[in-house]
Amino acid sequence: MPVFWKLFIYGQLNQRDGRLFGMSKAFKHNVVAVVYDFDGTLTPQPMQEYTVLPELGIKDGGKFWSQVNEESARTNGEAIVTYMRLMLEKSKSKHFPVTAQRLGELAKKINYFPGVQTYFERINNYVDGKFGKSIELRHYIISAGLKEIISGSAIAKYFYKVFASEYYYDEYGAATFPNVIVNDTLKTQFIFRINKGKENLNENINLHMPMPLRPIPFQNIMYIGDGLTDVPCMTVIRKNGGYAIAVYKSHSLPGKRTCKELLKANRVDFIAKADYKSGTELDNLIKLLLGNIVEGIRYGRESFKQSKKYRS
Ligand SMILES: [Mg+2]
Repeated sequence: MPVFWKLFIYGQLNQRDGRLFGMSKAFKHNVVAVVYDFDGTLTPQPMQEYTVLPELGIKDGGKFWSQVNEESARTNGEAIVTYMRLMLEKSKSKHFPVTAQRLGELAKKINYFPGVQTYFERINNYVDGKFGKSIELRHYIISAGLKEIISGSAIAKYFYKVFASEYYYDEYGAATFPNVIVNDTLKTQFIFRINKGKENLNENINLHMPMPLRPIPFQNIMYIGDGLTDVPCMTVIRKNGGYAIAVYKSHSLPGKRTCKELLKANRVDFIAKADYKSGTELDNLIKLLLGNIVEGIRYGRESFKQSKKYRS
């Protein structure tokens, strides 16, 4: 979506409910949220393939996911619930108790795409240096993978919040049941939670909240994902004026083909190889979009100032 159009939407959304500016004493839309999928976006393989599956003696992750798909078709079960169930059943048969602590420890074995481990500090410094303290950059994860694994990962400290699937743990600390399910369509719920500042799962997100009162406007949100499971999130964000980038593995032709299709169908702004090192195409595109978002924030801030001055 061209920048002028995004700025127009930003202005319309704010001006339409301009009277509501009077309810707020200061301009608060200075937070930028970059939302990442995890598997295939920050890591080449799904996180389970580095962590739980080898512990269970499963060397071929592909076989496990095929089994999940077959089981899901056989039982007409939801795929994420099915993988969480199969993982528990296999762990029981191997006498490997799935505990939050063990999942966190196994996270050390995750491999990341190039540059991921240094990217967050670099991009935080970039935003601080270029835009100053008036802009707050937050990184979020929305993943169908397991929250306990992500929370134990080397990059966990950079995330403002992680939304992911979770087990319920019994009094002995062993996982017994799915507690939170995150799949591709449910992922959009968390985009609205970020948008409305209702980030705890027990907070109602369906109550009406006028756009100007939402803490992080969609126009301040950028989503980075790797494929079709990210389409619902990309669509919600882009239709509301935000941005999306699809990334692919360099050696993965089907992945790149999917990204090209997403771009052709206007479902993403850009596609790039999942290389997060400084100066790469992806690094430059993220910085380009951050610049656009900050321009929108500057516009919003001026509009807010004038509304306060002349409308109240
Ligand atoms: Mg993915």
